[in-house]
Amino acid sequence: MNAFVVNRPELVEATLNKLLTAEHEVTSVVDLAPGFRLLAFSAPALRNRRWTPGHMVQLTFGGWEHRAYTPLSFDALRGEFTFLARLHGQGIASQWFATLKGGERISIGPTRAGLNLTAMQRPLVFFGDETSVSTAAAFRFTDGGFDGVTCVFEADDVEAMKQVLAALNLEALVVERGAAEVVQACRGARDLVLTGRSQSIQRLYKEVKAAHLGLRKITTIAYWSPGKKGMSGVHK
Ligand SMILES: Cc1cc2nc3c(=O)[nH]c(=O)nc-3n(C[C@H](O)[C@H](O)[C@H](O)COP(=O)(O)OP(=O)(O)OC[C@H]3O[C@@H](n4cnc5c(N)ncnc54)[C@H](O)[C@@H]3O)c2cc1C
Repeated sequence: MNAFVVNRPELVEATLNKLLTAEHEVTSVVDLAPGFRLLAFSAPALRNRRWTPGHMVQLTFGGWEHRAYTPLSFDALRGEFTFLARLHGQGIASQWFATLKGGERISIGPTRAGLNLTAMQRPLVFFGDETSVSTAAAFRFTDGGFDGVTCVFEADDVEAMKQVLAALNLEALVVERGAAEVVQACRGARDLVLTGRSQSIQRLYKEVKAAHLGLRKITTIAYWSPGKKGMSGVHK
């Protein structure tokens, strides 16, 4: 590797990702509710790999457009993972998900650090929206499971969200997007994790700080923001 690349960490990362990116096959497509599909992807390269619940994968479209998704389960024997995809209708990923029938192929990079759910202190509140359900469901594969974890989701369509949570056997408080009661739900928590829409994260962060809830740690990771494409969740 030449000196130019070594001095540019983002190029090293891009090169490594390219080397580690593998073709995956869509092995299952299940509609859980309007706007939500549970998808499974498999690849021989995934067999016997380790997975940290909360880490993300990046799907590659057209060779250079990357979109982040969070596995909610991983089967190292079969070399297969699943995630819940939100079909919001506008982007390259959302539109592709809507067309899937099974058998399609796509390049997916290796799992990358997003959140590490195994390292979080409980009791904790996990806040997010339609894009965060997959991450929350991955708590099932941490040592403590859902013990001491309270999930709170804001949603545009509360009924569809409840349908999805029931299908995934995930208990949570579901509120209309922007509802005020989220701050109250954070009382008694030690750690707080804020995911989903960036504007909701910013507003809630200010509100919980102002409420002096005695939280030990607040972790924020924006999954999307109106007008922005393909957020990675990685702070550069
Ligand atoms: C670490 C991480 C993990 C993630 N995990 C998941 C996951 O498991 N499941 C999941 O569904 N999503 C997840 N997301 C969110 C997902 O990557 C984004 O929603 C992504 O932008 C979708 O790509 P797209 O090509 O459909 O839209 P883009 O081309 O990225 O965006 C096109 C337009 O659509 C808008 N848009 C993007 N997302 C949404 C949305 N959810 N609702 C309404 N409008 C939107 C954008 O603001 C933009 O204007 C995750 C994001 C991060 C950073």
